[in-house]
Amino acid sequence: MSDTNCNTIAAISTPAGIGGIAIIRISGPSSLSVLERLFLSKAFQKEKKDRYLYYGKIINRTGDILDEALAVYLKAPRTYTREDMVEIHCHGGFACVKAVLEAVLEQEVRPAEPGEFTKRAFLNGRLDLVQAESVMDLINSASDMSREAALTQLSGKLSLRIQSMRNELLTLMAHIEASIDYPEHEMETWNREIILSKGNELRHQMEDLLKTWDRGRMVKEGIETVILGRPNVGKSSLLNLFSGSQRAIVTDIPGTTRDLLQEYINLDGITLKLVDTAGIRSTEDTIEKMGVERSRQAAATADLLLIMLDASEPLRPEDREILTLAKDRKAIIILNKADLPTALSHDDAQKEIPTLPQANILSLSVLKEQGMEGLYGLIKDMFFQGDIRLNDQLCIQNIRQKQALSEAAESINMALDTIEAGLPEDLAAIDLRQCYEALGRITGEALEDDLIDKIFSEFCLGK
Ligand code: GDP
Repeated sequence: MSDTNCNTIAAISTPAGIGGIAIIRISGPSSLSVLERLFLSKAFQKEKKDRYLYYGKIINRTGDILDEALAVYLKAPRTYTREDMVEIHCHGGFACVKAVLEAVLEQEVRPAEPGEFTKRAFLNGRLDLVQAESVMDLINSASDMSREAALTQLSGKLSLRIQSMRNELLTLMAHIEASIDYPEHEMETWNREIILSKGNELRHQMEDLLKTWDRGRMVKEGIETVILGRPNVGKSSLLNLFSGSQRAIVTDIPGTTRDLLQEYINLDGITLKLVDTAGIRSTEDTIEKMGVERSRQAAATADLLLIMLDASEPLRPEDREILTLAKDRKAIIILNKADLPTALSHDDAQKEIPTLPQANILSLSVLKEQGMEGLYGLIKDMFFQGDIRLNDQLCIQNIRQKQALSEAAESINMALDTIEAGLPEDLAAIDLRQCYEALGRITGEALEDDLIDKIFSEFCLGK
């Protein structure tokens, strides 16, 4: 009976495995009739109240009792998908859930595709695309910070900002079009100066928002960090301390491929994505083995370099070579083994790299676990100005949003250049239109169907 063309969909919304309860979600026009057919509950069959949790038994088409369950009917449009929905709370565990889902699919219901509930919420205007993406970000959050960032996005603040930029752009375009079509009415339309100043304001708004991308990415994916240092300075001890200490929980970030070369560590709410740790973990790690070139490459793209030195020994040529990588980068120099007599001072290290702020050179002892607070505090200061609570700050959260915003910024730049150069305004109007469309792609107002399909196919099943 399960018909691939039918409009009612169902999926298990809880994770696979053994648990107290599993939830099967149904959405679409047949939701209520499906429940009427498979839910043995006198109260429900009599009342069929909206948003009321009923107790009963789930049966299949031949009347066999499959499980005891609670079920709720959620009447459109006040639902996640804006369609009629049903949730069945059956017993968790493979057999119960499977049997109940099969019974649901015996009706005029088809299995939902990944992300299809959220896609319907989007298509029915319940969420825009930024909000829909934030639902997945929220589910995938592995740290408090990324959870907070996703919640801000879900509240629609970024969408509102984009919307207001689009409205301002529309006004600007209208004035330009008016001056093209009715040049004699110059008094009623904005002159070139006003157009340029309004346009510049908008350009700055877009550029400011683009600058939040790094922060957004670091919140979501972690601060890409490389630990560098010659053999025996204490790199693997630091790594072990990071991943072994109580406050550092090694996290698996869902949706990100976890390969041997990187580990995620959650330190006091911030996530470090430690890159190239395989070289450090291996027993005969040497900088030669890892290769200066490879360190250079890893260092070139990282957000943060942790350069370790052994403070109980004077600087060696290899140390100096590694220190050059810190030039013009966000780097922290760790003078490790502070528990031993010192042969290397802050000044010695600073001389090698004069542009690095003095505060970025730290003495600590990984062995004695001394000075670690200072390290965590410094990382927070460097990346989040000490304030790792994002509160209601807006951030661009993914590469799709970032690309569309970059295109919008480029288009408005071109338009303003055209106007400044005194070229015909209809040329600028074309670029402004493109800017308008690019902004619309962020919230999903101007997006082709196949792109929408692609975005939602990356969501998880049952959401
Ligand atoms: P790596 O080669 O850079 O990974 O260095 P390791 O982490 O393997 O450390 C090399 C040696 O230094 C080991 O014997 C560690 O126990 C020791 N070590 C690491 N950190 C400290 C420290 O803070 N103080 C002292 N005294 N020894 C340390």
